[in-house]
Amino acid sequence: MYWRILLTLAKLRALSLLCVIVLSSLFSISTFAANSIDGIRVWPAPENTRIVFDVKEKPDYKYFTLSKPNRLVIDFSNTTNAVALKNLADNDPRVKLFRSSVKKGKTRLVLELSKSYQLTVFPLAPAGQYGHRLVIDLYDKASSKERTSKPKQSTGDIIIGIDAGHGGEDPGSIGGKGTYEKRVTLAIAKKLQKLINKEKGMKAVMIRTGDYHVDLNRRTSLAREKNVDFFVSVHADAFSTPVPSGASVWVVTKRRAESELSRWLVNREKKSELLGGGGGVIKNTSDSHLALALADMSKEHSLAVSFGVANNVIKEMKKITKMHKKTPQNGNFAVLKSSDIPSILVETGFISNHREEKNLTWSKHQQRLANAIHQGIKSHFLAHPLTGSYFASVGYKKHKVRSGESLSVLAKRYNTSMTKLKSINNLKSNSLRIGQTLKIPRTG
Ligand SMILES: [Zn+2]
Repeated sequence: MYWRILLTLAKLRALSLLCVIVLSSLFSISTFAANSIDGIRVWPAPENTRIVFDVKEKPDYKYFTLSKPNRLVIDFSNTTNAVALKNLADNDPRVKLFRSSVKKGKTRLVLELSKSYQLTVFPLAPAGQYGHRLVIDLYDKASSKERTSKPKQSTGDIIIGIDAGHGGEDPGSIGGKGTYEKRVTLAIAKKLQKLINKEKGMKAVMIRTGDYHVDLNRRTSLAREKNVDFFVSVHADAFSTPVPSGASVWVVTKRRAESELSRWLVNREKKSELLGGGGGVIKNTSDSHLALALADMSKEHSLAVSFGVANNVIKEMKKITKMHKKTPQNGNFAVLKSSDIPSILVETGFISNHREEKNLTWSKHQQRLANAIHQGIKSHFLAHPLTGSYFASVGYKKHKVRSGESLSVLAKRYNTSMTKLKSINNLKSNSLRIGQTLKIPRTG
């Protein structure tokens, strides 16, 4: 089936080539431009700027750089430009100005740059809502000093890396009403960031703060550089029909790519790759690849933490939204290798479901989702605080009351007082129920 399509495509291409030859012999005018630049997008990010040219046909281009002043010159052969260049660089710190000139059907674009940058240039074939594109990445030349992470100095804060899925050229899934996953994930991530930073003992690190693309390797290396203790990736699900709904929490392992749902997910994400990635980084933009890469770095301890948090997040999310899956979607322990950062991936709902698409764009619902994720993370780390963290000094252990245990027996056993136990647990009397769960102060 697949090959037949390819063959048909090849025939079509041969046919159209023939047409072009016939046409060009009919109109042997040297200014005949086969291609056109129909759109230019500029995506400034903290570490790079991505510039995307929409072109009608596969671009035929050459480029070179000049210094004093720094410029990038791109020549598009047989191409006209339909895009106004005047304000394109207004919000970008790296490109000062776009200008163009036309000569013999060739459009020359000159980008005046603030300084010299590390450069990648690559074309992308049509994908999703996009046609042919030429992508340029201008990367800041980071000194090796900046890139090496500082030794961890304990401030007592648990550092939570918040990763808003997708971004920039990669919209993620798109809802029926045109909602972009990348916007929903960023909105929820920002709300979560606020909640975490308000919480004594926790600090948020944003992996993405605006509408730009960060490739997967950089997402995880950023988390590592910022000494992240726990990594949460925020996404919204999608399906080919509007029926499925509900949230799910993934403890990311290779198993994900192997599960039934994931077969479809992989297809979706392949599309997503083409939307956002390119060149050497093309493999790194999607959920399933995130899962794979994180799985490669998983080890048992971090998996235990991941599961612990995932369970708590599900417990909180259940209160405010339908769950698509009631348990963490997981992982075959056997396929896990080793990871230093425990992680979860939260699919906050189905953007392909009409009702949930509406909810996901609703600020109040985004806030509820952020609250649930925050509470879930917090309750896990209160119950199992990291050594040396602030939570270790305020956290509680749990105790389930067994037959014959009284408040005074427990106070003695845990080296605390009855009054303290009563106040922590909001107890009005001294009587306990068998099976009742008590908080026990972690006096150390
Ligand atoms: Zn996603």
